[in-house]
Amino acid sequence: MKKHRKIIIKNPSLKKIRNNFRKIIQKAKSDEINNIIKKQRELLNQMKKEGKLIPELEEKSKILESRKQTLNRVFNESICICPICREIDKDMVYATRSKAWYCIDCYETKLPKRLQEKWEPKYPLTKEQVLEFLDELKKVIEQCQTNLDLSKEILSGMDISKNDQKIFLETLYHYGGHCDCEIMLNAYPKIMADFDLEMD
Ligand SMILES: [Zn+2]
Ligand SMILES: [Zn+2]
Repeated sequence: MKKHRKIIIKNPSLKKIRNNFRKIIQKAKSDEINNIIKKQRELLNQMKKEGKLIPELEEKSKILESRKQTLNRVFNESICICPICREIDKDMVYATRSKAWYCIDCYETKLPKRLQEKWEPKYPLTKEQVLEFLDELKKVIEQCQTNLDLSKEILSGMDISKNDQKIFLETLYHYGGHCDCEIMLNAYPKIMADFDLEMD
């Protein structure tokens, strides 16, 4: 089997048709994502009305969240879009190693660098500050609105600069902390491991 597959279309009208197909697929994906977000909001509002978390609804929301993430991932890996430059009108090449399609430019220039770069967590906070942050977040975690608002509020309250917040939250995001409750769920064990701390 060939190591990589390039698909190049030279004919301008075929190019146009191809690009329109990609646009249609992108639109369908965005519509579905918006639908999911709407449904998640409804579930959240329902719980707000009840004034408490309802495990069944939380479960439903979690299933929706994973569907949303899968849709985004599948689309980003597809031939419709280059996941690096986000263009949808380029000739594409399949990268076997990262199992995704890239535009030829990015494949040749940016991808090799990306694969070489070893990711490292970045902590602009001290160990004590990280622990304080986690303690505070634990107290309010049930109010997660599937975003990072609670975390940002806590960090701002601790006088952490916006820039340091961004770096810190990017590390947490990399660890699967895509929203406040996911920070506790996914990132927390990894943060503790980074600081050689025992989980309580
Ligand atoms: Zn690209
Ligand atoms: Zn959450």
